[in-house]
Amino acid sequence: MHRTMEMDRRIFVMKLVSAATMLGASSLALAEAKPMVAEADPQAVNLNYKTDAAAVKHAKFKSGQVCGNCALFQGKATDAAGGCGIFPGKQVAAKGWCAAYAKKA
Ligand code: SF4
Repeated sequence: MHRTMEMDRRIFVMKLVSAATMLGASSLALAEAKPMVAEADPQAVNLNYKTDAAAVKHAKFKSGQVCGNCALFQGKATDAAGGCGIFPGKQVAAKGWCAAYAKKA
């Protein structure tokens, strides 16, 4: 009987620890999820930012240019969205574009 209770206590503690770890990981993920830049954002309007480069009609725009291959894009090449030096604290769409586009070296 005593053994069983000790084992139960251990299992309970292990569950508690793993639940706390999961909770920590999910709150970390939430903290990292920055809001997306809206096209209506004043800075976005100024720079003609579009979430889809296909919709861009701008003299500077050249086919093939997207946030995902811009030097200011802070995400990985495979990310659908990532940070951008022009929009601190927010994320831009990898297939988006703005007039501050600079080709990645
Ligand atoms: S600076 Fe580059 S990554 Fe940032 S919004 Fe403009 S095109 Fe996209």
